[in-house]
Amino acid sequence: MTSTPPSDPTALPLERKAALLSGQDFWSTAPIEEAGLPSVVLTDGPHGVRRQAADFGQIGLLASLPATCFPPAVAVGSSWDPELAERLGAAIGREARALGVPVVLGPGVNIKRSPLCGRNFEYYSEDPLLAGVLGAAHVRGQQGEGVGASVKHFAANNQETQRMQVSAEVDERTLREIYLPAFERVVTEAQPATVMCAYNKVNGVYASQHRWLLTEVLRDEWGFGGAVVSDWGAVQDRVAALGAGLDLQMPGDHGTGNRLVVEAVRAGELDEEIVDRSVRRVAALAELVTEPAEGFDVDAHHALARELAAGCAVLLKNDRGALPLAPGARVAVVGEFARTPRYQGGGSSNVNATRVDDALGALRAALGEHVPFAPGLSLDGSGDAAVLHDEALAVAREADVTVVFAGLADVDESEGFDRTTLDLPAVQVALIRAVATASPRTVVVLSSGGVVSLEGWHDDVDAVLAGFLLGQAGGGALADLLTGAVDPSGRLAETIPLRLQDNPSHLNFPGEQGSVRYGEGVMVGYRHYTTVDRPVRYPFGHGLSYTTVETGGLQVTATGDDTATVTVTVTSTGARAGRHVVQVYVATMAGPVRRPARELRAFRKVSLAPGESRTVSVDLDRRAFAHWDVREDRWLVAPGEYTVQIGRSATDVVAEATVTLAGDVVVPELTLGSSVMEWFSHPVVGAQLLEGFLATMPEGAGEMHDGMLQMIGSMPMGRFAADFGSAVPPAELDRLMAEARAARAG
Ligand code: BGC
Repeated sequence: MTSTPPSDPTALPLERKAALLSGQDFWSTAPIEEAGLPSVVLTDGPHGVRRQAADFGQIGLLASLPATCFPPAVAVGSSWDPELAERLGAAIGREARALGVPVVLGPGVNIKRSPLCGRNFEYYSEDPLLAGVLGAAHVRGQQGEGVGASVKHFAANNQETQRMQVSAEVDERTLREIYLPAFERVVTEAQPATVMCAYNKVNGVYASQHRWLLTEVLRDEWGFGGAVVSDWGAVQDRVAALGAGLDLQMPGDHGTGNRLVVEAVRAGELDEEIVDRSVRRVAALAELVTEPAEGFDVDAHHALARELAAGCAVLLKNDRGALPLAPGARVAVVGEFARTPRYQGGGSSNVNATRVDDALGALRAALGEHVPFAPGLSLDGSGDAAVLHDEALAVAREADVTVVFAGLADVDESEGFDRTTLDLPAVQVALIRAVATASPRTVVVLSSGGVVSLEGWHDDVDAVLAGFLLGQAGGGALADLLTGAVDPSGRLAETIPLRLQDNPSHLNFPGEQGSVRYGEGVMVGYRHYTTVDRPVRYPFGHGLSYTTVETGGLQVTATGDDTATVTVTVTSTGARAGRHVVQVYVATMAGPVRRPARELRAFRKVSLAPGESRTVSVDLDRRAFAHWDVREDRWLVAPGEYTVQIGRSATDVVAEATVTLAGDVVVPELTLGSSVMEWFSHPVVGAQLLEGFLATMPEGAGEMHDGMLQMIGSMPMGRFAADFGSAVPPAELDRLMAEARAARAG
């Protein structure tokens, strides 16, 4: 994707080069005919193609051409299925080719730090491994069809509140372990054509001008070779952004930024080589431009959207065999969402769907036209609420099982703002509770882009199926799951807490006075709940199916160089075929930093026929055991014990085995500011220092030294030596520091 375009664009006059570095309008780059470079269209994304129907000079929120609305990332995250994400990416790629779009803006791999983030529907998970694996698979699928991807929003864009101004205040370990790894995986494994920078600042610097992020980490460390594109309107200082590594400014600003670039070069403030570098990267995108393909198979893609959606929904609860719906049972449907589905989120990702399935129609197609329905409420507040409520109870009373469709409406959540509550609207809670008293069995189907609270009604109902947002064929997929035509196989990609205030970001989210402190550090989502043992409604990784699976035969073998292989056997013990997710977590107390109780380090989704056994083997690389060490400024594996745990969720460990890893031998640097304890415990010079020190002490002081060390242990050695100079002569310290330095270097 980075081959050389027809003629060398860097030989162009400076003005023409600058013209390539910002959009000619809302959705495309400027064509540079003299260099043989066509205009490149970049458009949303991520779960379908949103190609604006009108002229690209118009504001970018106008009607778009019909395209398949596939399940948004919130659903794909719950699939735990990279193959599904790859097929989805490939289908988007095919549609993009038909619609003349060489770059589709997605996927979004930001971490769900708070369940309130208005854009959580566009992101995969609270866990970086899950988000990264699925994002990389999406990019592979899409780019496999020759259509460039744009992984976004780089980085630490975890809220919508003040998204264009706020500074995310995040320490480096937290960035490295939580907020960057999904981007890192997508970049290193799938080489996206572009990366989109975020709107927000990261530690005080706009992401669009963040040299450390856009150049040192992204390019120098991860080897990114594509173009960095701004989020739409994210560039503040065009010249600073270019210098930091932002190549393409979108949308165009009628030439203002280009003029500034030219002036800066002429004034000697910007090296023309920096312009040339970005010109080469943007020019390379032209390679993606092809003749539009001949349409796409609308029916086949709708069918695919239905199949994929069915692999995403999560069966949270299923008591008294409420699901699948028993053949012959009298089923009633309640809730406007059954007829007017909520299937995607609001904002830039909104796709003009080719058609939309509703669950009511799909259930009637499966069970017969006689399935009674009552909306129970109106989404726009029209109608008589009491009458609607009573009608719903009337159908529920006549049924063996009532399926209530509840969730959030478009006005409740969207790109651009964050929610302030996890609660379902009170009218829906009242409806669910009333139906549960009237109907012998009650099943609740939830549609929402972000997690909603289940409190106040969860215990009243028999089953809960969380559909999140399933795309245009979600209605059909929900019917397939409810009737048992398909076995539910989704797992939660984010925790459902008992209370909003239990969320670790709660006291800091969404920040104040222009900044948001990531005070919980690496303890995001389940990492927090498991570490402090806080009960949740449903943990990360939870999800039921209509079949049962047993796990056994766990073997963990250290394979040298601080890596390991994990082998485990899963056996279907149920009467139905199903899909099971093997979740591999690592837990450790090793090392100098506080670790979460356990962290997801691998996962595999497998199909199992009734009675079938499968042995799953996964390799854990060094990073599965490492922490980001701020002192050493790199990933380190601490020597010690690591417990590999197989979980049905982040809280339900079904098997575990421990390995001991040699880890990295680190010879710490010693200075006069290092503590007495750091000196005495130093692996190279500590023993001799201690021996020399004790030798100077009066008879019997040796026995006291443990207690004494504890007392003086945190004192800087320089201070200690100055105050107890006779015990540790300065020249001796100089010699030991040199010895430590030599050992560290060697
Ligand atoms: C969003 C991006 C999107 C872009 C173009 C921005 O407001 O943050 O995700 O790709 O608009 O629509």
